[in-house]
Amino acid sequence: MTSLADLPIRDDLRGLTPYGAPQKSVRIALNVNENTHPIPEAVAQSIVESLAAAILQVNRYPDREFTTLRESLATYLGHGLTRENVWAANGSNEVLQQILQAFGGPGRSVLGFPPTYSMHSILAAGTGTRWVTAERDAEFRLSPETVVAAINEHKPDIVFLCSPNNPTGTPVSIETIAAAYEATEGIVVVDEAYAEFAPVGLPTALTLLEGRPRLLVSRTMSKAFAFAGARVGYLAADPAVNDALRLVRLPYHLSALTQAAAVAALAHTPEMLAMVDDIRGQRDRLVVELAALGYHPYESWANFVLFGGVDDPHALFEALLEEDILIRDLGIPGHMRVTAGTEAETTAFLEALGRIKA
Ligand SMILES: *Cc1c(COP(=O)(O)O)cnc(C)c1O
Repeated sequence: MTSLADLPIRDDLRGLTPYGAPQKSVRIALNVNENTHPIPEAVAQSIVESLAAAILQVNRYPDREFTTLRESLATYLGHGLTRENVWAANGSNEVLQQILQAFGGPGRSVLGFPPTYSMHSILAAGTGTRWVTAERDAEFRLSPETVVAAINEHKPDIVFLCSPNNPTGTPVSIETIAAAYEATEGIVVVDEAYAEFAPVGLPTALTLLEGRPRLLVSRTMSKAFAFAGARVGYLAADPAVNDALRLVRLPYHLSALTQAAAVAALAHTPEMLAMVDDIRGQRDRLVVELAALGYHPYESWANFVLFGGVDDPHALFEALLEEDILIRDLGIPGHMRVTAGTEAETTAFLEALGRIKA
C-alpha cells in the first residue's frame, strides 16, 4: 500500500491536513453553522419543478455565464448592483479559490486575522499563495489601526476580512474595511457568509463597493438561505473582477441543475429567509444561557456562538457526542463553537450542557 508521503506531491503541500469538520450522523448537528431548519415544502416543490425542466436539457452544457442566476442574485443584493457586478460558483469556497487563483498564487501573499475561517488558509495553500497573519485586538475585534498596521507590515497582495468573523462572530466595521482598502493597492475580500444574521439595518461592505474596484464582497446561500447542500456562493464586485475570474474558472462550472435550483430558491427569498429571525433569537439566547452556566460567550452577529471557559474542549465534545449532539472543537484552547439551531435543538444542547456541567 502506498501512503501520501510516497507520492510525488507538491513540496508545499507535504504535511498539510485537509479541512476536517467531523461529518457524523447525530440527532443534533450544531457544528458547521448550517441553517438547521429545512426549507419550506412549498419552496421545495417549486425548486423540483425547475429542476424537472432543467433535466430535460442536460444533454447541453449549461449557460456558462449563469446569466439568470446572476440577475436573481443582483436583485436579491440590491444596493444598485446589476448582474455585471455579480459572480457565482459552487459555494463561496470556490469563489474564494478563484479569487486566489486570479490574484494570488506563487510569489504572492494573502493576509488573514486568526482565529478566522479555516478554509482561508487552506485555499491559500492549495493555490500556492503565501498565508500571512496578524493579531486581532481584544475580544477578537479589528480596529482600522490594527488592520492598517498589518497591511503596512506585510504588504499582502490580498487581504481577507471575515465579517462577521467565523469562528468568533465578531463584526468588522465599515470604517475598518474602508481603511484596509486605502492602505493597500491589492485586493480586499470581505467574506460576508453570515451577513443576513447581523442586526437589521446596519451597512454591509456592499455599501462600499461604488468607486472601489479592488473591493470584493463574497456571500453564500449555504447559511441564511438553508441551501448548504446545493453549493451556491457568490460575489459582488466591479464588473472587471468577473473578467479576472473568467480566466481561472472551469468552463460551465455551475451545473444547469445548480443554476435552476438557485434561481427557483431566490424567487422565494422571503420564505427561504423566514427562519433567520428565529435563528438570531436562538443565538442571543445561547449568549445569555452560556453566560448563566458560567462560560464566556462572545458577542456574535452570525448564527453561532464562540464560548470560552471550557476546561477541556475535547472532553466536552465527547460528552455532548454521548448525548447525540455535535458542536465544534476548533483547537482554540478553552473555547468551543456552537451553531444556533431550532428552538428544540438549542434547548437540548443547553440542557445537556447543564447536566454535563453539574
Ligand atoms: C460557511 C462559510 C462559508 C461558506 O462556504 P460555502 O462554500 O458557500 O458553503 C464561507 N465563508 C465562511 C466564513 C463560512 O463560515
